[in-house]
Amino acid sequence: MQESTTAGELIAQLKPRKNQLDEHGLLRYGKMLIDGEWVGAASGETFESVYPGTGEVIANVASGGKEDVDRAVAAARRAFEEGEYKKMNGADRGKLLWKIADLMEANIEELAELETIDNGKPLVESLRVDLPQSIACFRYYAGWAGKTTGETIEPHARVNAFAYTLREPIGVCGQIIPWNFPIQMATWKIAPAIACGNTVVIKPAEQTPLSILRLGELMLEAGMPKGVVNIVTGLGETAGAALVDHPGVDKIAFTGSVEVGKLIMRNAAGTLKKVTLELGGKSPNIVFADSNLELAAKVALAGIFFNQGQMCTAGSRILIEASARDQFMEVLAGRAAKMTVGDPLDPKTRMGSLVSEEQMNRVLGYIDKGKEEGARLVAGGNRVGGSGYFVTPTVFDGVNNDMAIAREEIFGPVASVITFNDADEALRIANDSAYGLASAVWTNDLKKALTFARGIKAGTVWINTYNMTDNALPFGGYKDSGFGRELGAAALETYTQTKTVYVDLN
Ligand code: ADP
Repeated sequence: MQESTTAGELIAQLKPRKNQLDEHGLLRYGKMLIDGEWVGAASGETFESVYPGTGEVIANVASGGKEDVDRAVAAARRAFEEGEYKKMNGADRGKLLWKIADLMEANIEELAELETIDNGKPLVESLRVDLPQSIACFRYYAGWAGKTTGETIEPHARVNAFAYTLREPIGVCGQIIPWNFPIQMATWKIAPAIACGNTVVIKPAEQTPLSILRLGELMLEAGMPKGVVNIVTGLGETAGAALVDHPGVDKIAFTGSVEVGKLIMRNAAGTLKKVTLELGGKSPNIVFADSNLELAAKVALAGIFFNQGQMCTAGSRILIEASARDQFMEVLAGRAAKMTVGDPLDPKTRMGSLVSEEQMNRVLGYIDKGKEEGARLVAGGNRVGGSGYFVTPTVFDGVNNDMAIAREEIFGPVASVITFNDADEALRIANDSAYGLASAVWTNDLKKALTFARGIKAGTVWINTYNMTDNALPFGGYKDSGFGRELGAAALETYTQTKTVYVDLN
């Protein structure tokens, strides 16, 4: 592969537009947003943010801890209880969300570059997928602001009385963000929270804080009152844990690993916080022989290799009906073998770098495990390039659903292909997983598709497509993939609470 643009070259390219480097010549993202001000960590500590394309340091980021979280939560509480934000009605909040979207759009190239140099994903994807969807998410929730309504209810055991419900914001929301879609996951959480009148303390993943910090600047520029969204950068076990433990935080919304999700649920119990968890997946993508096999294979490739496979919805278990196996595999493995990884900043690149050395080693470990377990490697399977964290698109055929590569979430570009003989067997294999985030079925038989959609235990079922998330559609997991729904009107449920008002007319 071609060597990646170096961080030095990159920063030099960005300089004319940003024109703001820190004293070390790195990108200027060493401060956090607390109470409308940009501040360093109370401890003065920082951590390094790395460009995965070369492994070079691009920024020193404030390493927030308990004291910083305390200040951010106090600011969010003040903003929630008093001041300018409290006086804003739904229409005002809608305008604010729309303005944020407009400013993101005006700065889309810069945000996309930041996303790519922090995460390693192809620039084209940041620019054409992550950013447009994030902007659309702010606009979607701008439309919802102030439209969460209660009901009028007739008491069941009384006459001369009536009751109504109010849908009120929850208060201060702690939002913990993963590194795979940094700005998009932040948007999914910030936009509905503000639409409902909550305030936020957000903690980006330590691997990818830059785009969210830039979003913070744009939110201030849009006129967001101080303290409404605070950004505390820092490590999970310090800043993240302090947010989860804080008695002043009313709700935690988390997207990340099952392991940390369980820990958060346990720790949040101490202060009885509301918790929503969007965790991992091992999603089955089931292809019947009667489907358009060529299309199914092409979409299956995107379903597993988009974002270098670092997606909770990744279609990592591809189930193919035995009679169509050879025809399907010719397209799937043939095309996978031809896919190339490349410089994330090159506009021609469709597959970039994994997020970190740690993640790359984890993925390579699973590839070794797949070989040891007896699966047949038919494409990829190795690291490429001397620097950066690039792994070739990998396909294992002949996978058994009991193998680790079929059971555990790899979070990388590794597809496990499992063959089945009939619909019952396909459904049994699909549901034989601890996870239940997403799934897909490919068939031209309507009855088979709809029966499958009822039978699968997953939060989303795609029919004859894959990975079609949409800002209007509820998104979340069954089983170990978590609970609570993001996006759509469903997210409004998790950012409001219901108050019953009883009126006695006697
Ligand atoms: P991954 O393993 O993919 O990095 P994690 O679940 O570890 O995913 O991380 C997702 C987010 O959770 C990150 O923002 C991370 O900093 C945060 N996090 C990690 N550990 C904790 C913790 N103990 N408490 C709160 N947040 C945490």
